[in-house]
Amino acid sequence: MSPVWSSLKARVSNRLARHLCATPHRLLNKRPMVSFTFDDAPVSAATTGAALLEEYGARGTFYVAGGLADTWSGHWTAIGAENIVGLHRRAHEIACHTFSHKRATDLSATAMADEVERNRRYLLGLDPSIRIENFAYPYGLGSVSRKGQLGKLFRSSRGIFPGINSGTVDLQYLHAMPLIERQIDRDGIERAFDAAVETNGWLIFYSHDVAAEPSPYGCSPALLRQALEAASRRKVSNLSIAEALWAAGA
Ligand SMILES: [Zn+2]
Repeated sequence: MSPVWSSLKARVSNRLARHLCATPHRLLNKRPMVSFTFDDAPVSAATTGAALLEEYGARGTFYVAGGLADTWSGHWTAIGAENIVGLHRRAHEIACHTFSHKRATDLSATAMADEVERNRRYLLGLDPSIRIENFAYPYGLGSVSRKGQLGKLFRSSRGIFPGINSGTVDLQYLHAMPLIERQIDRDGIERAFDAAVETNGWLIFYSHDVAAEPSPYGCSPALLRQALEAASRRKVSNLSIAEALWAAGA
């Protein structure tokens, strides 16, 4: 497939995926909620990021692509066995990307099933008590043709379309806000929390590395702390994706 056609197809599928609701669900959370999620996930998210969350009594969700484990992405080294098991033992949620970090829009049903199965086997091979319940679309690209399939495999799938999840949502296309230095500032974080409180909503942040000099896709520890402070000031429940889904009756 030509790169232009492939990217057009991905954009169209992503747009349709946003509008065609595969799994409508009414969120029944009693209080506004926030979840901190990290994709891929860089070692600094598992060390610096997770430690900051723990300081606030919170747990994050780490969407792992097993095929990237211990490899250098050009911006960070992705976590491998030791960090994945460590996060799991400290009650963080280990969740699923595609194994090879391929876009959902490029995968047939068989190829997607294979990607998910390889990731599941990789993660359960590290620790059979890991429960893999939730998925994030690599590059945030939702796929209209894979949504139904993912709905049978996972409780939720997260994209990167900005917004607060509230009222009736599509569990296979959860909205998320960037906790990314280049895309949001302190005011943006405060506004996102205000919106979550006003709508009794579920604010999901996504990020990658957590470093003093973050990559274009990550945040500084200071920005993460700002978001954690904003949550605790407003008494917003800080939950992993799995915990938030339970709280929302999903
Ligand atoms: Zn990713």
